[in-house]
Amino acid sequence: MKQKKRALDLVLPHLLELQPYESVSPPEVLAERAGIPQSDVVKLDANENPYGPSPKVADALADMDQLHLYPDPAQTAMRAAISTYIGLPPEHVVVGNGSDEIIDLAFRAVLAPGDAIVNSTPTFGMYDFTAHVCGGRTVEIERDADFRIDLPGIISAARDGAKIIILASPNNPSGNGVPRQAVERMLETGALVIMDEAYAEFGGTSSAWLVPQHHNLVVLRTLSKWAGLAGLRVGYGLMNPDLADLLMRAKPPYNVNQAAAVGLLASLSDTETLNTRAKLIIEERERMFDLLAGLPGVTPMPSDANFVLCRVPDGRAHDAFEGLAQRGVFVRYYSRGKLADYLRVSVGTTEQTDRLIAAFVEALS
Ligand SMILES: *Cc1c(COP(=O)(O)O)cnc(C)c1O
Repeated sequence: MKQKKRALDLVLPHLLELQPYESVSPPEVLAERAGIPQSDVVKLDANENPYGPSPKVADALADMDQLHLYPDPAQTAMRAAISTYIGLPPEHVVVGNGSDEIIDLAFRAVLAPGDAIVNSTPTFGMYDFTAHVCGGRTVEIERDADFRIDLPGIISAARDGAKIIILASPNNPSGNGVPRQAVERMLETGALVIMDEAYAEFGGTSSAWLVPQHHNLVVLRTLSKWAGLAGLRVGYGLMNPDLADLLMRAKPPYNVNQAAAVGLLASLSDTETLNTRAKLIIEERERMFDLLAGLPGVTPMPSDANFVLCRVPDGRAHDAFEGLAQRGVFVRYYSRGKLADYLRVSVGTTEQTDRLIAAFVEALS
């Protein structure tokens, strides 16, 4: 008897076991779940910018008149604008469909099936996810109780042959950065060191200035958080020009669409507005931190980003998460491991913080 062919027979076995990336739901879905109008949703679950993009973005999008043409595969205008913004020559820049795409491109360029990345957990889920899509492995080096990296552990994993060290700085979800000396020590291993600085504009230090001196350093930035463009998908990597040239040749030719390019250019022409808003977010972060610290049993972590990770009383994280959601306040909950007693709260407007705190008081009582 002829065996019936199944759709997945040709698929790579490692992809059959892939755990999907846990992403957030859009506001209309959250509103329906809570049984409230969408306008009452306080969305503090994805580190999005409460002020949205620069007003210049909407104007520039409305003026687009070349939609019938393909975008520039060489990213000439975007690379020039980023070069001016960061202060590195354009040859160092590769722009992606979100910085997630630069992670994907860099991993695909370096990882053969079976090769390892070093991941400092708990951290952003895309690193482990992308390594697995490539057929690679993750060597997990756990952070300590204060979410600081284990530098000796990372270095020994790299010496044992891991090809990529990737670190978010500030880290998502803990909000703390990687000390500069640690970056230099990791670069000495010769592994590709990827510093993901998605939240750099909210404080902390950057490694971007080290890029010209180190062939094996990649710094990732994004317009998703500080520029409020998460929905348009645009981010970039800064790296050695030879590696940049390789990724430019290996990427899908039209990876950044015209709207994303227009959004990036308009944003970088209005850094004054965006920096003013980033300052408001930083001030609100500090106010929210103090209010959270005043809740019984709640311990917020100091943060250099636009979110705060809080420890909630033992075993109450899920209840608190549910209680907040019922009151229309959505935060990030983690069911597994070390983070099971924590919630991550994005920094919103003053009014959103006040709603959060009022709901938190009720949810914990
Ligand atoms: C949000 C976030 C990103 C952004 O990814 P994009 O693809 O640019 O939207 C990257 N890294 C970390 C750690 C993040 O939290």
